[in-house]
Amino acid sequence: MSEKGFVIVYTGGGKGKTTAALGLALRALGYNHKVCMIQFIKGSWHYGELDSVKRLEPELELTAVGKGFVGIIDDKSPREDHEKIAEEAIKICKEKINSDKFDVVILDEINYAVNLGLIRTEQVIELIKMKPDDLDLVLTGNHAKQEIIDLADLVTEMKEIKHPFKSGIKAKKGIDF
Ligand code: ATP
Ligand code: MG
Repeated sequence: MSEKGFVIVYTGGGKGKTTAALGLALRALGYNHKVCMIQFIKGSWHYGELDSVKRLEPELELTAVGKGFVGIIDDKSPREDHEKIAEEAIKICKEKINSDKFDVVILDEINYAVNLGLIRTEQVIELIKMKPDDLDLVLTGNHAKQEIIDLADLVTEMKEIKHPFKSGIKAKKGIDF
């Protein structure tokens, strides 16, 4: 019999949310568990994991959604376009969660999409409630909504004690991106 899956939330203002999710993926892959990471794109930066995960395919699959979230602040495209992209993103999440192909599904930066108002909290709650019993579902991003925290089994808040950024040091390749 398979074990009950967890709902895991990595939130908070300190560094380590996405990398914690990637670490968890690496661990799960060690048992030949299948992992899907859906990244809600929040900037135009390139992240090292976009390339390294290819070496872990097909057991690890990475899907990027919401390219339209890039530059949303000064983006001239109409709000409806972003909402359409958000709907599409939710559809992809539902497909992956219900595909029966994965043991772990990671929704990276989904809290960010919620905080931008692109995805409603209720839609995330729906995703959590529809997940198969044995699936581990990981949600990352700062400012996780209380309703999501309430539904989770495991919540870790990354708390910043020190960050080189605060002393004016730029983001570092391989560490920050
Ligand atoms: P990481 O991807 O390194 O695990 P994260 O997922 O916790 O970080 P995000 O909010 O997704 O953090 O931000 C991603 C980028 O911002 C990364 O380059 C990360 O190093 C950087 N970052 C994270 N926390 C801080 C912070 N407290 N101050 C400045 N930069 C940060
Ligand atoms: Mg992150």
